[in-house]
Amino acid sequence: MSEDKPLLLVVEDDAAIRNLIATTLDVHGYRYLTATSGYSAVAAAATHSPQAILLDLGLPDMDGVDVIRKVRSWTDTPIIVISARSEDADKIVALDAGADDYLTKPFSVEELLARLRVTFRRLAREETEGATASIFKNGDLEVSYGSGTASLAGEELHLTPIEYKLLCLLAKNVGKVLTHQFILKEVWGSTDERDLASLRVFMGSLRKKIEADPSHPRYIQTHVGVGYRMLRV
Ligand code: CA
Repeated sequence: MSEDKPLLLVVEDDAAIRNLIATTLDVHGYRYLTATSGYSAVAAAATHSPQAILLDLGLPDMDGVDVIRKVRSWTDTPIIVISARSEDADKIVALDAGADDYLTKPFSVEELLARLRVTFRRLAREETEGATASIFKNGDLEVSYGSGTASLAGEELHLTPIEYKLLCLLAKNVGKVLTHQFILKEVWGSTDERDLASLRVFMGSLRKKIEADPSHPRYIQTHVGVGYRMLRV
């Protein structure tokens, strides 16, 4: 076992799913630890400082969301939630508690690997660029936080203040799924679900400005019923 392989903590009480994940991680060059309860997960996260956590939400002793809250009290390590519940509400609560991404059971091995690639690519970028970089670059897109401007392929974008705030929020959280509620709170200072219509309108106008084909967006992914995520392109 090589030390430079990323270490993951897999928290799952269902043996069949745990074994599927373990086998996948083995084959694809990750190291992992497993936990089958919330308390042992929190303890393992504290003791071993894994580079990412795959967390089942339905655990025998504790709600997975409480595991997220506890782990988030001391570390930003990425947490990918694995939920058997297909309801959006659980994912949303988990994302708002600090989870980075989610997988809904049943998921494919390819989906799991894709989520891990996104997560580790984001970590690698953060290490090289620093999370506090004053210029954000992603494909042709560039956001200059200092001057409050953004450009696409070198052409300055003419964004409204709301569009710019929205773009900055997505850029600063690139790779993470942001819930509608979180975006509304950060950009509009609102907790009113009725403002969701405004969010959709501004997202539409932002996409028209940054996406070559707004109906097949490359930069900003829609998570139906959940929120949005900027992808690294
Ligand atoms: Ca479970």
